[in-house]
Amino acid sequence: MAKLMDLPTKNELGYFEMRLESVGGLGANLAGQILAEALVMGHGFNGAHFSSYGSEKKGSPVKSFVRACRADREVRSSSPVERPHILVVFHECLLKLDGIASGILPDGKVVVNSYHEMDDVRNMLYLPSGTLGVVDALNIALEEKTRINTAILGAVVRVSGWMRPDVVRETIAEAFQSKHSSQVDANLRTFDRGFNEVRVQTYEDDGKFKPITTVSSEPLLGYRNAPIGGIIINPGNTGSKDLSASRQGLYPLYHRDRCIDCGLCTMTCPDYVFQWEKGMDKRGRPAMVLRGPNYQYCKGCMKCVEICPVDALTLECERPEFKYTADVQLWGPPDALGTMSRENEPAKWDPEEGHYWHRVG
Ligand code: SF4
Ligand code: SF4
Repeated sequence: MAKLMDLPTKNELGYFEMRLESVGGLGANLAGQILAEALVMGHGFNGAHFSSYGSEKKGSPVKSFVRACRADREVRSSSPVERPHILVVFHECLLKLDGIASGILPDGKVVVNSYHEMDDVRNMLYLPSGTLGVVDALNIALEEKTRINTAILGAVVRVSGWMRPDVVRETIAEAFQSKHSSQVDANLRTFDRGFNEVRVQTYEDDGKFKPITTVSSEPLLGYRNAPIGGIIINPGNTGSKDLSASRQGLYPLYHRDRCIDCGLCTMTCPDYVFQWEKGMDKRGRPAMVLRGPNYQYCKGCMKCVEICPVDALTLECERPEFKYTADVQLWGPPDALGTMSRENEPAKWDPEEGHYWHRVG
């Protein structure tokens, strides 16, 4: 009988576990699926993958879980991963939210999509110790005209120290071959770049952040201590909510000089982002005038950009080195931004020129 492979790291129940923290549209579900498939089909473990969604829309929170064990036992748990051996954060803005980094083990591994310095990312995570991998997946995805998830997969494989990149490459190729065969090569390049470009550093516990001393096999929230459903346990949370993690790299830039204070954006915005103040209209009469969006509450749906009749709101990229020209496909499929352009006409898909998006006009 062939010798069964064992996992280099596992918990007291015999599971190796990963948690992928993301928002809808970034491809975390597919990434989790690919990782689980690679662990089962390529590495010879038993495994499971499942995701937890809010509503089915871009920008809503997504958690994707991967669990693996030796092939001679079954994965009988489908509970959320609370103590991940590898935590993956698809958008650094998520680090501002409570609970994203919960359960990191003292010797755990964390992969974050960010262009910031290692120490800055460690500070954002409050990471006492462990191995941190930071990959600028957005930059890679923009340059390769793909999505960030395959770059992150490359980083995860490298940070794991034991997952086989050839196996994960093969699984990526199979996943894309069936639905988007033209994207196979670009996604493999993206994976390779994620693998090669991730910055990795191991931090000893230097006392900078409170160490996690207890590792419990008990769930942090169970039927005895979970909050009661349907009640607001944090009054006034509308004021402190931060939707910036839901934006996918784009935001509506406000141009006061073009605005005619028609109010259409305010009526269209689903999150009451626009703020008004007392001022003067164009004829010098007292009137309410638009001060602009409060970006803390903006989730980047771009409905306001579509509705504005005078281009006083334009779609821009949050990373200053990228412009909304063409190299901005970001994470969506070709039709994701299909109705957005400076001229309020459909944006054009032009693979011939090697660009994804053009302003029209
Ligand atoms: S993109 Fe515009 S419409 Fe959408 S949430 Fe932000 S301000 Fe509101
Ligand atoms: S829709 Fe455009 S012009 Fe009208 S108030 Fe909003 S930003 Fe100003």
